[in-house]
Amino acid sequence: MLAATYNGARNVRAAKVEDAKIRKPTDCVVRSTLTAICGSDLHTYHGANEKYQKGAGTPPVMGHEFVGVVEEAGPAVTLFKKGDRVTGAFKSSCGLCELCRRGYPSKCPNGEMLGLDTPGAQAEAVRVAFADFSLASVSDKVPDEHAIFAGDNLSTGMQAAAYGQVQPGDTVAVFGCGPVGLFAQQASLLHGASAVFAIDRSPERLELARQFGSTPINASSGDSLAQIRELTKGRGVDVAIEAVGLPQTIDDALASIRPFGMVSVVGLSEAETMQFGIRAAYLNGTRFAIGTCSVQNYIRAALNLMAEGRINAEPLCGTKMTLSSVAEGYERFDKDKSVFKVLLRP
Ligand code: NAD
Ligand code: ZN
Repeated sequence: MLAATYNGARNVRAAKVEDAKIRKPTDCVVRSTLTAICGSDLHTYHGANEKYQKGAGTPPVMGHEFVGVVEEAGPAVTLFKKGDRVTGAFKSSCGLCELCRRGYPSKCPNGEMLGLDTPGAQAEAVRVAFADFSLASVSDKVPDEHAIFAGDNLSTGMQAAAYGQVQPGDTVAVFGCGPVGLFAQQASLLHGASAVFAIDRSPERLELARQFGSTPINASSGDSLAQIRELTKGRGVDVAIEAVGLPQTIDDALASIRPFGMVSVVGLSEAETMQFGIRAAYLNGTRFAIGTCSVQNYIRAALNLMAEGRINAEPLCGTKMTLSSVAEGYERFDKDKSVFKVLLRP
């Protein structure tokens, strides 16, 4: 089958690889009708994940976002059958271990991250482990171009608002207006936020944020914190969500909150460590949450919210290409922030 393969930093290309196959009775093979490039794939594209890519094949198959049709269901799969229209979490989970049962499927020790632990989803077909817990049915009301966001970007935006404990009336600052940041802004508004401040450097992305009801703040001027202070009359926001993945924006998020405000970080930093102002955090009573998205907790709600028109994915649907031109897709997505999301038709 055709797939996006990793051949060293900034060298992803379409090539023939071994077909996706059932390996365990709980697996499904899904024939993709749409796959996409995510901001997280850029970390792999930059070479930052080489030590984590071991299970993804030789050469590794990239990606973790897909919508498709079940081609084959393993004998132990009970919820899905051949022909079902589905999407899935970027990381599978067994649903039965202690961490899954406690509500942390992203930390399931039996789960497999697509594109790292197992061949990825930017391919004509993908093998999904623990299909009963990792897949979700997609209704006719949600087109592929919207459903593609449920298994990662939208669920992550929803978790960002949930981890931030956004309450009705809260003011929220969201650092980053990529798909994750924009969905975090929409989710914060659904939680009842009275104002959402959207921080980014890209005018196109800030314009989308404005369309979704956020107040745009251009970080290029270097005084986004001063603008947040002014907009909150010196108080700081109740909740800061970080959806960029830079030590600088994590620092800004920490500095933007009121006393006992909440900082929720979903951005993935390529830096392993950063300075942390522990005394300022102590004095402020800062509350901090960070982590990978437990997609299984949100994916069904994400699909329902899109079906009901309460979350709008349409303006994010971006650049449409074919899987065979994935090399160009990565190049453009990496260099040009006006390329918002690259959707790849197999
Ligand atoms: P993206 O690259 O599309 O968005 C990042 C945005 O940050 C861009 O709009 C960019 O212009 C903006 N930005 C860059 N530098 C900035 C600065 N100094 N100040 C303000 N804005 C700045 O990525 P995305 O797909 O929206 O993902 C966002 C982050 O979330 C990435 O780090 C990604 O790896 C991570 N992510 C985490 C999870 C999770 O499970 N926690 C899931 C998906 C993505
Ligand atoms: Zn992703």
